[in-house]
Amino acid sequence: MTRMNKTVKSIYAAFAVILATLPACTIQATRSADTAVASTTEAASPTDSRVQETVQKLTQIGARVAGTPAAQQASQFLIEEYRKAGYQTEVQTFTYPKFRDLGSNVSVNGQTISGQALNNSIAGQANARLVVVPNVGRPNDFASIDVKGAIAVVRRGEIPFSQKVDNAAKAGAIAVIVINSEDKPLRGTLSSPAAIPAIGITQSNGAKLLNAPAAQVSVNTERRTITGRNVIARLPGVTQPRLLLGGHYDSVSGSPGANDNASGTAVVLETARRLANTPLAREVWFMAFDGEEDGLQGSRAFVNSVQPQFLSGLSAMFNFDMVGINDRLLIGGSAELRSQLKQLNSNVPTWTNSSSDHASFAAKGVPVLFFYRGSDPNYHSPTDRSTNASSLNDTLQTALASINQVLQSK
Ligand SMILES: [Zn+2]
Repeated sequence: MTRMNKTVKSIYAAFAVILATLPACTIQATRSADTAVASTTEAASPTDSRVQETVQKLTQIGARVAGTPAAQQASQFLIEEYRKAGYQTEVQTFTYPKFRDLGSNVSVNGQTISGQALNNSIAGQANARLVVVPNVGRPNDFASIDVKGAIAVVRRGEIPFSQKVDNAAKAGAIAVIVINSEDKPLRGTLSSPAAIPAIGITQSNGAKLLNAPAAQVSVNTERRTITGRNVIARLPGVTQPRLLLGGHYDSVSGSPGANDNASGTAVVLETARRLANTPLAREVWFMAFDGEEDGLQGSRAFVNSVQPQFLSGLSAMFNFDMVGINDRLLIGGSAELRSQLKQLNSNVPTWTNSSSDHASFAAKGVPVLFFYRGSDPNYHSPTDRSTNASSLNDTLQTALASINQVLQSK
């Protein structure tokens, strides 16, 4: 790479990070900078809508639940797109147990209330007296009550669902009903299957139990083995990258997952396209993870499948999740990388959050950056159907700038 290019790149890097803090509407003004750098990668403007097109193509496939034909179709689409961009691809398959709620409910005072079995709950029926547990179900909260052979009614909050259910089981309860802290269906997960069945219900339905003497709990679940498919794209011969970019392409059932997370998947693919003809591409792997919605299954399978030196050889992992809406990009991740970014521009809003695929890499000591654009009213719902091009491109510009910064810095 020539000296001249380097200067342009570092100016561009600083400039692009500022982009991250500007409201989407001013992206127009910065086009000139893009073009300056694009000459070393490829012509820019026709590509700006390409990210949005990728989101639309993935969204049209529908809900991409790990292990389903739709997810397989999505992975095939990504493989073809990466190959078209000049990358070699491979599919890493992995398996994990997954449970499904086949329909669970609580019957009380002759009325049947539908509920949601907590993820990973065992199946089971219980017909017994109800005991309302004070506070949130810590061990001490069971000291003043007798739940032996009873159904424990516990409120959501403060401690993980697993602890509530384990504490109830230890105190002798035969099932647990968790009342949500808001009047919405409770979608909770047990980090590991408990000894007794557990179901979640809405706040208003919970109120119906507080003075009821007894109830019947029916938790109907199945556990299956899911085969997930991670897509890996890299240039031939690049066996040890310094940077790994990724985002999950699976979605939850019933949601076409445009923002969560066709958006991140599309930004990673577009970054690969933009870098394809540059020397930087020889330092990067691009990944589309599966099974994130089932508990970071794909990224965990990947970090557990590679050699430790592969992970320690990474200067950074960038994760993109929900980057298709909202005006501001938030950057989370390792303090080291966040402060590096802050040096360039103190206005970049950073935060600490770990509930996405970067957490699997961070757990192995890899420095990570997490790209996220804030909460979404359509999160995990059938209405998560659209993203906007300016948010996607704003994320893309910051990604390109951050890649430059990390690969230039060491
Ligand atoms: Zn997500």
